[in-house]
Amino acid sequence: MNSILDTLKTFFKSIRFILFIVIMVVGILPVSLLKIYAVNMYRTAQIDNRQEKIYNMAYMIKNLIISTDYLNNSTSETVSVELEQLTSIYSGRIVIVDSSYTIIKDTYVVDEKKTCISENVLRCFDGEEIVDYDSENNNINIALLVTGNEDNDRGVIFFNFTTADIEENIVELNSILNGVLLVVFVILIGIALLFAGLFARPFKRMELEISSIKTGNFDEKITSTGYTEVVKIGDSFNHMLERLEELDASRQEFVSDVSHELKTPITSIKVLADSLLTQEDVPAEVYREFFADIVEEIDRENQIITDLLNLVKMDKKSDSLVITSVDINELVERVLKRLKPIAAEKNIELVLESFRPVVAEVDEVKLTMIVSNLVENAIKYNVMDGWVRVSLNADLKYFYVKIQDSGIGIPEESQKKIFERFYRVDKARSRETGGTGLGLAITNNAVLIHNGEIKLHSVEGEGTTFTVRIPLARPKK
Ligand code: ADP
Repeated sequence: MNSILDTLKTFFKSIRFILFIVIMVVGILPVSLLKIYAVNMYRTAQIDNRQEKIYNMAYMIKNLIISTDYLNNSTSETVSVELEQLTSIYSGRIVIVDSSYTIIKDTYVVDEKKTCISENVLRCFDGEEIVDYDSENNNINIALLVTGNEDNDRGVIFFNFTTADIEENIVELNSILNGVLLVVFVILIGIALLFAGLFARPFKRMELEISSIKTGNFDEKITSTGYTEVVKIGDSFNHMLERLEELDASRQEFVSDVSHELKTPITSIKVLADSLLTQEDVPAEVYREFFADIVEEIDRENQIITDLLNLVKMDKKSDSLVITSVDINELVERVLKRLKPIAAEKNIELVLESFRPVVAEVDEVKLTMIVSNLVENAIKYNVMDGWVRVSLNADLKYFYVKIQDSGIGIPEESQKKIFERFYRVDKARSRETGGTGLGLAITNNAVLIHNGEIKLHSVEGEGTTFTVRIPLARPKK
């Protein structure tokens, strides 16, 4: 019981935890993706914008170079100022190469007068315009062909501008967004806890109800409402509690029946012994007579204990069966032979009718007990000069043992209870015949663990028929 409760509690806790995680993931994932998307969009927009501005400026400078004939006379103040301004505003470098591949202007100065025959220069002289963003080094590269009126008026201008400032802005933007994300994260934890709590409320309620069911208090029930699953778990749990309640009640009833049955012979023994003790000068015959009664009561007590032990053994699972291939005809004959003297006491005719040889996979000891108990009852609850007919038959799957008697019969209202422990139709008669009221309960259990069935037909005053049906073979596991 406790382990079931613990399992359910762990189950409910897991549900809450899973809900929490789901809400967190569902909340955090889109927000994080949105942040990444926003930063990338910002970067692209900034770079595109910068590129466009530089490109426009580059065109403006290109035209200026042509109009001032800068390629042939690189002393134009206007060009130098424009170049200075552009490179200082956007932090970059501008290099101008003339038709003889000589660098006539480098805003970094270092490469002036040097020769530059790079792939880009050649591509540009071929008429290609280069506009390119190097994302690895954060550089915007633009190369334009400058063409004047003369052939030697050709040149190339290189613009190399860094976008490091944009990247710095992005780092700043990232840290701001991370801060926002942290706040969103904290809010989400709150929302997740709240929703997980709300979603799991019916489970939590059930968990509390289950915890409040104290061990052994099976009459308490849980009133589960909410999701269908919760109601189903609640119903199953209540069903289990009902079963436990029934089991508990039947266990208590059994203990009280056993105590009562065991007490009866002891009370008789005490009464007999007391009356001997309180009398003086009791004659030896009376002593003998009383002691004979005491021995009888002790035998009875012994019989009850033996039957109880048999019953307990029989309550075990079918694993306890010792299955062998048994000749049933021979088994029944042996039982009848053993009971013949008891039948003779009442002049009861004992007849065996065997329709075919039957060999079955059964527990020999338990099957002997089944047949013995039924035939013994047929003799015990019979009339003087009556008869008991035992017949044995079989089909392809089962064998049948039928025990018919001409006895007193069993009243209809008792027929349902006849297999209950300690149930006797006539207590006094059963006691007289040494019955304990356990024989049929043991027999029924023994038949059941053989996967068999026992049926009863009885008419009061006419007789009783018990039919036992048992499979010929054990099912393969
Ligand atoms: P007991 O030890 O009292 O015989 P059982 O469990 O074997 O206990 O039987 C229960 C009761 O069923 C008996 O007390 C008796 O009243 C009734 N009973 C059993 N078998 C027969 C029978 N063949 N004919 C009439 N009554 C029977």
